[in-house]
Amino acid sequence: MDGPDPNLGKVVLAEDALQERVRELGKEISADYSDRAPLLVGVLKGSFMFMSDLSRAIERPVEFDFMAVSSYGSATRTSGVVRILKDLDLDLTERDVLVVEDIVDSGLTLQYLRRNLAARGPRSLEVCALLVKEGLQKADLDLRYVGFHIPPEFVVGYGLDVGERYRNLPAVYEYTGPSPT
Ligand code: 5GP
Repeated sequence: MDGPDPNLGKVVLAEDALQERVRELGKEISADYSDRAPLLVGVLKGSFMFMSDLSRAIERPVEFDFMAVSSYGSATRTSGVVRILKDLDLDLTERDVLVVEDIVDSGLTLQYLRRNLAARGPRSLEVCALLVKEGLQKADLDLRYVGFHIPPEFVVGYGLDVGERYRNLPAVYEYTGPSPT
């Protein structure tokens, strides 16, 4: 890419701030799960980078599984109607499940996921969300671990995309370009 991307606004979270907070979350999770091996459930695709860094900051045995969901609605708004595109490979019965989410906006996606996963009989079910947007979460989400609260603007980077771009940026930026269609 030549020159700065005109669709990227200010840095919301710099790389070193992200990395430091991820290390802290890893320490907290390591302490809380000192006698259990959590099953990390990543919600694709946005959480892949956070999950990768977070898992390396957890000094405990962990297992991984992934699911992919898509929410019906416009590109930058969710409607709360969620479709499972890829389900988990593992059985959750009696597992200590830790859902790893990239970003919570309305909370509707997470609310659906939590209900869906709780119905599979895990021993425990907690959520670690890297980013939570300040504003109206439409549900009581009971987030056990939160990385950062950020203003309610659309952001990209560190796994988050617009039209599949920007996921590889090591920092989180405000996105100021056009909505993809
Ligand atoms: P919610 O259901 O909480 O409103 O939305 C959650 C999902 O919407 C996230 O998992 C993410 O895929 C998408 N999303 C919400 N806000 C943003 C944002 O600022 N940037 C990007 N790239 N995706 C977002």
